[in-house]
Amino acid sequence: MSADGRSVVVVGGGIAGLAAAWELTGGAEPDPGRPQVTVLEPARTLGGPLRSVPFAGRPVDVGPDGFLGRRPEAVELCREVGVGDRLRPIGASGASVYTRGRLRPLPADLLLGVPTRWWPVARSGVLGPLGALRLLRDLLVPRPDRRGPLGDRALGPLVERRLGAAVVGALVDPLVGGIHAGTVADMSTAAVLPQLLAVPRRGSLMRSLRRAARMAAPPSGEPAFWALDGGMSVLVEELARRLEERGVELRTRVGAEGLARGAGRAWVVETSAGPVEADGVVLAAPAPVVAALLQPHEPDGAGLARTVEYASVAVATLAYRRPVTLPAGTGFLVPRGTPSPLPDAGGEEILLSAATFLDAKWPHLRRDDTVLVRASAGRFGDRRPEQLDDDQLAGRLAAELEAIVGLDGPPVASLVTRWPRAFPQYRVGHLLRVSGIEAAVRRLPALAVAGAAYRGVGIPACVASGRAAGRAILESLGVGPPARP
Ligand SMILES: Cc1cc2nc3c(=O)[nH]c(=O)nc-3n(C[C@H](O)[C@H](O)[C@H](O)COP(=O)(O)OP(=O)(O)OC[C@H]3O[C@@H](n4cnc5c(N)ncnc54)[C@H](O)[C@@H]3O)c2cc1C
Repeated sequence: MSADGRSVVVVGGGIAGLAAAWELTGGAEPDPGRPQVTVLEPARTLGGPLRSVPFAGRPVDVGPDGFLGRRPEAVELCREVGVGDRLRPIGASGASVYTRGRLRPLPADLLLGVPTRWWPVARSGVLGPLGALRLLRDLLVPRPDRRGPLGDRALGPLVERRLGAAVVGALVDPLVGGIHAGTVADMSTAAVLPQLLAVPRRGSLMRSLRRAARMAAPPSGEPAFWALDGGMSVLVEELARRLEERGVELRTRVGAEGLARGAGRAWVVETSAGPVEADGVVLAAPAPVVAALLQPHEPDGAGLARTVEYASVAVATLAYRRPVTLPAGTGFLVPRGTPSPLPDAGGEEILLSAATFLDAKWPHLRRDDTVLVRASAGRFGDRRPEQLDDDQLAGRLAAELEAIVGLDGPPVASLVTRWPRAFPQYRVGHLLRVSGIEAAVRRLPALAVAGAAYRGVGIPACVASGRAAGRAILESLGVGPPARP
């Protein structure tokens, strides 16, 4: 028990839950006066998809392999935890998109796939002549925008109205849809690209967005992405070690099964290993779990959490014996609906959704004998990866990759990792839904939510939400400094 006898349970040991535990125990400055913290995680390991495994002679990330440099939260956490010296900047720049039958470099000056200048897009050939002409219209006779009553819009239709369907199909959907494993057809602009809603309704969208694009670029000198030498597990393991040093109980293979109001303390978390009493609770599990736990106390908030749907993805990490010549850049994206390049595919849609040239992207992964490529599959609504076993999936992805980049043969080793229900879908009105969940949670004593389901799926956003949830609980328990806004 802590010095003041309070206890907090964190439900979910992903990066958001671990960040919450870090904040609850003092963050950068450990504070023995803080509450006793218990983290409940049903899986065998902590960190959720932050997982690195030995493969082809090096530790390779099979979930996220890097995080944005523009946002400070993940880098700050690495430094506080003591793994700042393992941060490695991205080693190559530029990526391609597989469109109109071949790989074409992504044009410069995009804001999450939305062009801010015409000429780089026209020159890149990603759109084709008609698409490029349609885009030119935005500079010459721009189409005014319409706004809906929600203060939100579906991203795909919004961009399509102003810049044409080709831009959405070849650039915005692969880039933004790719980050969320979803489709921009019904994705919330307010949640994903709010800069688009801030531009004037009249005049050129591309011109208006240029300033936002400059602001979205990483500060000069800062890399766009960071990885960790040794993989993301380095952060998870060191965070877990430091949390245990602070007296945090990390209970793996124990999940929350119910949440009840307590007599002595505010909450009792029912678990597979018996009840755990707590003065405060951070819910950092996926939204359906949060919905079930909230149901008896705030059915409206629970109902909103239940509507957050998830997409499943699978990644095949492939090792090719050197010498191998790959295209320049960090990899390529594949637009939804692209026909498979395999001769016997009979017009079926390609399975590959993206490929990452790992050694080019992360120089610390380079070795003399093999080259690593990560092939990704799976988007919301695409169940095909689940219907293939690991060998079939790796074989099909490798064949499609070979057909696109012209490799000389199959990989010498492959590793398939599946991430079921890993990406929450931010649909139109998502932020209203999130505000509703947060308001429901605030009506209950010392309860907070955190994680990818709410205000950003990237690691920095998840760290930020975990830490904010930790601060909110401390504030409701009257411990430590008041929560920062
Ligand atoms: C393949 C892949 C690639 C990605 N690439 C990137 C990238 O390059 N950069 C980036 O920034 N982000 C990336 N992401 C996104 C990012 O990794 C995730 O959004 C983030 O890790 C989610 O963290 P979280 O803590 O919110 O959720 P999770 O990590 O899912 O944590 C939630 C935890 O709750 C646990 N749980 C479930 N049920 C219960 C229960 N009943 N009781 C208690 N706990 C429960 C789960 O087991 C899980 O561990 C990627 C994700 C995937 C899957």
